Amino acid sequence: VSDSPRGRLRAAVIAVGDELLYGATVDTNGAWMGTQLAEHGIPVVERRVVADEGDAIASSLAAALAVADLVILCGGLGPTPDDRTREAVANQLGLAMTTDPALVDMLKDRFRAFGHANLPRNNLKQALVPARAEVMENPRGSAPGLLLSVPDDPSKYVALLPGVPREMKGIFVEELLPRLRRLFTDRMLPVAHRWIHTTGIAESVLSERLQPLLPDDLGGVSLAFLPKLTGVDLRLTVRDEPDGDVARDALDRVERLLAPAVDKYRFESKSGDLVDALAARLGARRLTLAVAESCTGGLIAKRITDRPGASSYFEGGLVAYSDEVKIAQLGVEPDLLARSGAVSEGVALAMARGARAHFGVGATIAVTGIAGPDGGSEAKPVGTVWYAATVGGHERALHRRFPGDRDAIRVRSAQAALNLLYRLLGDDGTP
Ligand code: AMP
Ligand code: MG
Repeated sequence: VSDSPRGRLRAAVIAVGDELLYGATVDTNGAWMGTQLAEHGIPVVERRVVADEGDAIASSLAAALAVADLVILCGGLGPTPDDRTREAVANQLGLAMTTDPALVDMLKDRFRAFGHANLPRNNLKQALVPARAEVMENPRGSAPGLLLSVPDDPSKYVALLPGVPREMKGIFVEELLPRLRRLFTDRMLPVAHRWIHTTGIAESVLSERLQPLLPDDLGGVSLAFLPKLTGVDLRLTVRDEPDGDVARDALDRVERLLAPAVDKYRFESKSGDLVDALAARLGARRLTLAVAESCTGGLIAKRITDRPGASSYFEGGLVAYSDEVKIAQLGVEPDLLARSGAVSEGVALAMARGARAHFGVGATIAVTGIAGPDGGSEAKPVGTVWYAATVGGHERALHRRFPGDRDAIRVRSAQAALNLLYRLLGDDGTP
């Protein structure tokens, strides 16, 4: 049944590269593509890892084509002699290769842009295209992707992608997926997802609170818990429901059931990043933001500026690591530091107020804590963190004892501090 042209599409993924077999590089591309393909309703039925050898690549392709309608190979499209995927695929499928002049021009431009007068001879091979193959552009690198139908069975397709993860992902999302949607619309299992992003509640606690709210039968909706250091994402999924409205209604119903437990911890963000949710609330109130960071050492500022568009609201940050800098730059009282210690409610609040004065902004965040592994005490063990936020005259400070190593404590601290300001701004944009 699966072989019939109208059956459900099945995929196989082949990772090509000696380094993957040595274990020097882990095949993260295969895992990433498996997730992506599943999300888009294309089950992966087989995954292989093969050496940079023509015969091995060819026999793997043949075997994969016997069980799958779509075979994606990644890796081995580079310019060096050990990159053999393109040639091996063309040989196996009996396809001649010709040089694509447009690709030669593109490669020349690319090398010129990086200050090379001439295109290295080796790179010419990256302009070779097997007959029947369509070129999928790679703006992030020199190896283009290729997509072709199999001569013996044109209902089957083979895609070639570069191994560099960033390039592979770019081509996959921007070039390959749109083509698959066009070629196989009715053969991709319809999948509808809804993401509910939460932060500030542990996975086990959330699951416990959800239990009494959810019946055993969720009406075709499955629920997945996806915990990260920064929070827990809930993913609701409806599979194999061709009617989009029916799927949406089923998702709405479960979302309403969850609401009482999640609403206090939920944030709205397409990217899943709390920073985007916070930016939206700041933007709605036309507030500018500055940060004062001790134990997070600039991590909050980094997270904010990681997102495009940060300049529309973010003024800057101060890493106030030592007491001296907290005093001199943020106006924290030396007495307060001596009395309460740097990791205290008073100092967190004083840092947040100091940042407001220093940067002249509408909203601030401050963090002070003990990230470890040293510096903890009985009263303030490693992981103790005070964080504060101000919006105009409103201010709030909280403390937590975060679990984990230094890295985890810093990541959790940054998220908690961002979340404090997010909550302070309120749903309707008022603190
Ligand atoms: P290639 O396209 O074969 O020249 O691979 C270029 C680089 O991409 C390799 O040096 C690896 O670091 C990386 N790479 C290749 N294949 C994979 C894979 N399956 N998963 C993760 N990284 C990969
Ligand atoms: Mg390679």
